[in-house]
Amino acid sequence: MKFGTYVYEPEKAVGFDFHVLRAKLETGDRIPPVQDMYSNIAVFADNAAVRSHPDWISQSPLGPARMGNSNFNIYWSVVCATQPEHRAEQLDYIEDVDRHSLGVWLNSQYFADHSHCTCPRCKERWKKSGLNWFEWRRKEVTEYIAQVRERVKKDLVMCVQPDPVTACERYGVDFDDLAKYADAFNVVMFSKSYATPWYWEMLSRGFKKLLKKPVYISLYVFGPGDTARDVPSASELLTVSVRCARAGIDGILYLANGASQLRDFQKAAVDKVELRKRLKGYGGESVQEVLDLVKSWEKIVE
Ligand SMILES: [Zn+2]
Repeated sequence: MKFGTYVYEPEKAVGFDFHVLRAKLETGDRIPPVQDMYSNIAVFADNAAVRSHPDWISQSPLGPARMGNSNFNIYWSVVCATQPEHRAEQLDYIEDVDRHSLGVWLNSQYFADHSHCTCPRCKERWKKSGLNWFEWRRKEVTEYIAQVRERVKKDLVMCVQPDPVTACERYGVDFDDLAKYADAFNVVMFSKSYATPWYWEMLSRGFKKLLKKPVYISLYVFGPGDTARDVPSASELLTVSVRCARAGIDGILYLANGASQLRDFQKAAVDKVELRKRLKGYGGESVQEVLDLVKSWEKIVE
């Protein structure tokens, strides 16, 4: 297994195998990529693009993909996934970011959610395609990812929502299509509590069965603006890491604002001596790899 950080600040916490920098956020904010980190890019979720071009927003019978439209699981304003200028600009941007970092981890590279997008262009493209609604959306997403693949010379990782069953109906995402272009997948499993690890373990097992490339998962440690009361405890994070590891995943990323929050997590994890002993009985080699990682942090946090 490999262990990574997933961070908003260009800082490489000690004690991890690799680092993913959030180079472009769903707000549209961008920071320069870093040569020895991977770059995470939110493609269609982009508040800034929608602010500049209100007509680019993804449409649906239940309203636009705007933050605050509670019909959907949408926290950001999302650009229509066929918007040609946004697509073109993102391709150029992705190519440039790839050149200046270790590779690209994409998220929000698909339709906003179920029943999107019904803007006049999408309706027209759908009609012309002769396909059914779901097949047309799948084709749009897959063709765009193929274009991205032509631009990305280094690693290309597909971040996906933690929905193993209705990804096609909701997002136009077909896992086998994406696997043809991706070097790996990253299942985003952010939660401010991992009190019930069973569900996350089950999702890990399900995705490992479905996805035809290595599978990473991402866990939430400490986001921008959080206080200690907002975030999962070190005990929850350790337990869920071990339980997802035994489901056969290939690696875990830990999301934090920057290196100092990860160091706090490492210290708290090291201090859970009793729990670390108990977790030894939770499974085979992969579980030991997680526990060995925590052991290796002992000398870092001293
Ligand atoms: Zn549209």
